[in-house]
Amino acid sequence: MPTFQHAVVTGGAGFLGSHLCERLLDAGSQVTCLDNFLTGVPDNVAHLRSRQGFRLIKADVTEFIHVPGAVDLVLHFASPASPADYLRLPIETMKVGSIGTLHALGLAKEKGARFVLASTSEAYGDPQVHPQPEDYWGHVNPVGPRGVYDEAKRFAEALTMAYRTAHHQDAAIVRIFNTYGPRMRADDGRAIPTFINQALRGQPVTVAGDGSQTRSVCFVDDTIRGVLAVAASDLSGPVNIGSPDEMTVLELANSIIAAAGSASTIEFVPRPTDDPMVRRPDTTLVTRELGWAPAVDLAQGLAITIQAFRDASGNNAEGRA
Ligand code: NAD
Repeated sequence: MPTFQHAVVTGGAGFLGSHLCERLLDAGSQVTCLDNFLTGVPDNVAHLRSRQGFRLIKADVTEFIHVPGAVDLVLHFASPASPADYLRLPIETMKVGSIGTLHALGLAKEKGARFVLASTSEAYGDPQVHPQPEDYWGHVNPVGPRGVYDEAKRFAEALTMAYRTAHHQDAAIVRIFNTYGPRMRADDGRAIPTFINQALRGQPVTVAGDGSQTRSVCFVDDTIRGVLAVAASDLSGPVNIGSPDEMTVLELANSIIAAAGSASTIEFVPRPTDDPMVRRPDTTLVTRELGWAPAVDLAQGLAITIQAFRDASGNNAEGRA
């Protein structure tokens, strides 16, 4: 990967952002992490504070962004991302996807830096095309409860394209599919941390609907490698990053119970409104252009994540992993 001199990561104290900061420092970049700790925490980057070239700044990117000196990469990852978070924070979610994206693009333009937008598979909504290729326009309900997240990201994509055409801004869009790994919040409401938390406590694992809806889950190290490969390329995207290994949510729950060595049972609970029925990326583009494919299989990824949750619940009463 070509080394960036100085990368700015918005949302850098979140789950994906903290892994991005770490990989960039490993690759020799200076990293400025901007975060207002809305859904992330300084603890996620505490282990990076003593590393040379790392700077953590508490900042709300919907207010303004100022970073002194030269910058050659802006990764815009700030946004509530779990359904529980964006349903609780609908206005903040729409502001960071719109005004926050405007400010992050403005920073990239001012510095002459490459810009990468963290978009999402939710841009496809409850898809009617399966698997989802990048040229599928999606099936989103703008006035449903999830519209605040899906439409904020779709607006952010459109704004990124407008900067490309109107300002010739070097910019890329990555559509990230469900990613899991250490430093997810045990209580963030997403399926994998919820299932792990329940399995480790021996509580019933709560599967929405009859569990036949599908997901394709990717381990965080693979997702970060994909995002940084797009950052280092001249692709503009959108580029899907995610695992093509699709499974039902019930299969996922049973895999987690087995991997945790738990005696938990399954409890079926109502499905949330507009919950997508199927989800699987078509990764032809990223594999053809960048040779990217996930390398960590589900068993390995779950073992690492479950161990991280165990370690965190030993150290922290809130169970942050
Ligand atoms: P996260 O909630 O752990 O991280 C988001 C970070 O953004 C948090 O640290 C939060 O405090 C920060 N933030 C929110 N609003 C902000 C603001 N106004 N100013 C500054 N910081 C702000 O979520 P995550 O899972 O790490 O997701 C990161 C990004 O990746 C999001 O943009 C999300 O939409 C995208 N994404 C994630 C996934 C996934 O599976 N994790 C999938 C698709 C897309």
